[in-house]
Amino acid sequence: MMSCIFCQIANQEIKAELTYQDHLVVAFKDLAPQAPVHQLIIPRLHIKTLNDLKQEESSLIGHMVYIAQQLASENKLTDRGYRIVSNCNSEGGQNVFHIHLHLLGGRQMNWPPG
Ligand code: 5GP
Ligand code: ZN
Repeated sequence: MMSCIFCQIANQEIKAELTYQDHLVVAFKDLAPQAPVHQLIIPRLHIKTLNDLKQEESSLIGHMVYIAQQLASENKLTDRGYRIVSNCNSEGGQNVFHIHLHLLGGRQMNWPPG
């Protein structure tokens, strides 16, 4: 999916500050951080929205959550706490149509989210 900005980041065709990568996922710092720690965890596989996730692909999400947990630990957020968010479609606030987890931390999070 060449027109997808996150596929291009995963393929290192456009620059991002990568924090982790393996054969399944890539993590990198968000361009417009909303917290002192704001990273995105994406699958290498192009999946447009959570609605498009197939059952046979769903173990990817567990791996993404585990990597988010590891990155939270690396950033000393384990005890302080952090938030993992995934936005879906327009009312969910999704802007980039390649599924991703946001890892947010380093400040107090509020509830309900805006
Ligand atoms: P969404 O709004 O789809 O849940 O999240 C998309 C996120 O991707 C936003 O937080 C936005 O700042 C980030 N983003 C969009 N384009 C780029 C980019 O080219 N590089 C990086 N590092 N982050 C991006
Ligand atoms: Zn993509």
